[in-house]
Amino acid sequence: MSISKLPTEINVMDEKYKVVYCDDASDVCVLRRHNKIKEIDFWKNEIRIFKGPSTEFEIWNRIWDSLLLIFVEKFHISKIVEDDIQERHLLLFSMGIGDILINNEIINDRIEFPKSVMVFNSLYNVKYYDKASQVDHIKRESLWGQIDSWDSIIRVYEGQVNKGSIWQTIWHELIHAILGKVYLKLNDNEDFVDLMATAINGIFEHNEEFRNRFKK
Ligand SMILES: [Zn+2]
Repeated sequence: MSISKLPTEINVMDEKYKVVYCDDASDVCVLRRHNKIKEIDFWKNEIRIFKGPSTEFEIWNRIWDSLLLIFVEKFHISKIVEDDIQERHLLLFSMGIGDILINNEIINDRIEFPKSVMVFNSLYNVKYYDKASQVDHIKRESLWGQIDSWDSIIRVYEGQVNKGSIWQTIWHELIHAILGKVYLKLNDNEDFVDLMATAINGIFEHNEEFRNRFKK
């Protein structure tokens, strides 16, 4: 696989974060006290990432892991989630995002909506519906999206006003797929899932380098 261009600046909602890649793990830590693989400086809006001999997949995972930490801070997630969100939870979550992005170019490209998505070795078929009332498998309520883990089907309401909101629905359901796979209780928290979907979707909308990642 070709090495994609790594972002040097990321628009995260209303702020810009500079990304610094360090060959030496001790340079990642601003105080140079420890070896670190990532660090976020919220004062300087700077993300510091260990690059060293890591694979591209690992570097992107560190970027996503850092972004998730920023989302958690910015959205004051601790107020809507009862349990403490620990860094290892976000690490698992970021690995899920990295996995989806590396195995599904269509998600990076955002040119067309995916018909299927691979999530940690499970293939989910994605079906689209014109009416929100058709999305619910048991036709009880109108929904934006739904995931059926037993049948591995994601259902999406396609009649939404803009493409961005359809992508957001797809991300919402993919986040359920990731969290369900890594058995995180966060999967039951719809507010958490939806805020994360908004934030992740926003990253793709506002950062060219996250799209067309596999095109040189
Ligand atoms: Zn949901």
